Amino acid sequence: MAMNPQGRPSRPIHAVDPGAYEETFSGSKGLDQAEPLIFERGDFDNSGVDLPEPKGLETRTGGLERTARIGLPGLSEPETMRHYVRLSRKNYAIDLGLYPLGSCTMKHNPRLNEKLARLPGFIDIHPLQPQSTVQGAIELVGELARWLMTLTNTPCVAMSPKAGAHGELCGMMAIRAALDARGETRRRRVLVPESAHGTNPATAVQCGFTTDEIPADATGRVDMEAFKAKLGEDVAAIMLTNPNTCGLFERDIREIADLIHEAGGYFYCDGANFNAIVGRVRPGDLGIDAMHINLHKTFSTPHGGGGPGSGPTVFSEALAPFAPVPYVKKDGDTWSLVEHEAEAKADGNDPFGRMVAFHGQMGMFTRALSYMMSHGSDGLRQAAEDAVLNANYILARCREEMTPAFEGTCMHEALFDDRFLKDTGVSTLDFAKAMIDEGYHPMTMYFPLVVHGAMLIEPTETESKAGLDRFCDTLIQLARSAKAGETERFTQAPRFAPARRLDETRAARQPVLTHAAE
Ligand SMILES: *Cc1c(COP(=O)(O)O)cnc(C)c1O
Repeated sequence: MAMNPQGRPSRPIHAVDPGAYEETFSGSKGLDQAEPLIFERGDFDNSGVDLPEPKGLETRTGGLERTARIGLPGLSEPETMRHYVRLSRKNYAIDLGLYPLGSCTMKHNPRLNEKLARLPGFIDIHPLQPQSTVQGAIELVGELARWLMTLTNTPCVAMSPKAGAHGELCGMMAIRAALDARGETRRRRVLVPESAHGTNPATAVQCGFTTDEIPADATGRVDMEAFKAKLGEDVAAIMLTNPNTCGLFERDIREIADLIHEAGGYFYCDGANFNAIVGRVRPGDLGIDAMHINLHKTFSTPHGGGGPGSGPTVFSEALAPFAPVPYVKKDGDTWSLVEHEAEAKADGNDPFGRMVAFHGQMGMFTRALSYMMSHGSDGLRQAAEDAVLNANYILARCREEMTPAFEGTCMHEALFDDRFLKDTGVSTLDFAKAMIDEGYHPMTMYFPLVVHGAMLIEPTETESKAGLDRFCDTLIQLARSAKAGETERFTQAPRFAPARRLDETRAARQPVLTHAAE
């Protein structure tokens, strides 16, 4: 009898061929229930509350009251609760298992963070409350800002951007403002390595720059000769990720900083991979002028599946005056938020404007500071070191059957290409779908674009050796299976997921958003 690794039978003893009755009468599979979308259920006349029709109430809307249905679902409390609990069970999360999405850094979120984020003094306040009544909350933002400036060795941080991409926008707007202040309105070309995350060129273009791609060299890093050849009087900035999206440290980063500065441009660093170097490297020492920090990738906070983001952006001396409002200030024992341009000008600053209506992601600030203070400086450094160690463990174990994209060790993520699948009839996509059947969320696929059939695996620091071994065993067995010609295991996958293979291109271009339309 086939046994699983826990020693339990892997099929019922008298198993029938599942193919014979694969479709059920109800559409549900096992206890995984099929149901329509919430907007297709209930109607205006159904409601969770049961109030009598008010008597003798004159309408005062001048005949403008709605007569058609409002289009909202009308469900009772138990129906509503079941709907959302079922949905939550369909969602994959870092709290359910290994989440190896490279570039995304899906970190464990310690529960202590959640406890602190829910303290009434942080959660039950309003952004328009008088500042004198929320001194503790403003101090928390100021304290987190101090940690971020210390960890990066920079003199200024804008706390308000609400995601990494929003932080990029903040940084590039400051660069544009600084160039304009120098009267250099012709400097509009931004250099972007070809391995960059798509948000980098998108941000540059959004800010009115043009982008110019720098090729990678054979080691997966910036091709220095090509970079030097692109420098010129119209260069506004370089946007560089370090460690880069191939999971490699850009060794020439200091020279890159010097050269871009000599050419009159600024250095934007994409700090999404800061998790790999916290406590080891201070980006300010490397000559960066602006860098966003994805709090949700480096200082915990659950993300993905709708979780929030936050992208504080640090600035060098040269860009600090142009940072947006609001910012936190302390006078004596009083904390305040500088909200208006006139106030900032009195401080000698020249903010380019503001990014958000209020002050940023308060709940995430609380989680990030809780994470930092509970780890301490040594713990933060160890988290970074363990993240790199875990990625290298995967790289070392899987290299026997899979093909690493580049020579040598990696930083926090291991990058493979699809050479090991050559002539097997199995693509990177098929391989990823087979991982779902094995109980693993796929890694990031086909990114970075510089690597053919890329598979980017980032385990983060909290996975145990036993967990990593189970994961590597599965990848190695899948790779052997593909090479042994068991192509259908892959092309038919996922066989055990609620929905099988989707036409992803059509799903993106012509989304069918209701059950009824199927
Ligand atoms: C995640 C990521 C971003 C964008 O960050 P968001 O918070 O998702 O907006 C930018 N660059 C890199 C390299 C990333 O991994």
